[in-house]
Amino acid sequence: MKNEAEAVKPIRSLEDAISRCQALGMRLSRQRRFILELLWQAKKHMTAREIYDCLNQQGKAIGHTSVYQNLEALSSQGIIECIERADGRLYGNVNEAHSHVYCLDTNEIIDVYVELPKELLAHIEQQTGVRIDNYRINFYGTRISPRIAQAEIQAPTECCSQNGSKANSPQTDVSLTR
Ligand SMILES: [Zn+2]
Repeated sequence: MKNEAEAVKPIRSLEDAISRCQALGMRLSRQRRFILELLWQAKKHMTAREIYDCLNQQGKAIGHTSVYQNLEALSSQGIIECIERADGRLYGNVNEAHSHVYCLDTNEIIDVYVELPKELLAHIEQQTGVRIDNYRINFYGTRISPRIAQAEIQAPTECCSQNGSKANSPQTDVSLTR
């Protein structure tokens, strides 16, 4: 789904996302712009419901159907990110290949930029015979402390049940994409 999008200018900001819409000839309604702005501000992944609530709280009137239709249109064009989860879909801004940190305490998915050491990439290439152009890593874990969580990301306040003692062995799953 991303391959053809990557041939064009990568989306690295809200402005890029908007110009991608224009380049694709998509109509940029006010509602569509609201959604893009919100996802770029929020820097986290949200459900359609959360997006709807958040926009309406900000006084930006938008209907349920409009939220769903716009999310569908934007994600099908690769302008926003859509993550399928067992309990529903999450949407986020699309930014050059970024990795995800899954917080098992709060159920959040946080974007991070990870650059692997060249030696490691070379090792993987050698092991697989595939030239690595791009990668995304999924990290899983629990909150270290509420303070760090608040400072680093603008996490909603409800998310800091300080219960870091779950025995989750740290795991990463590296998916190699081209
Ligand atoms: Zn993401």
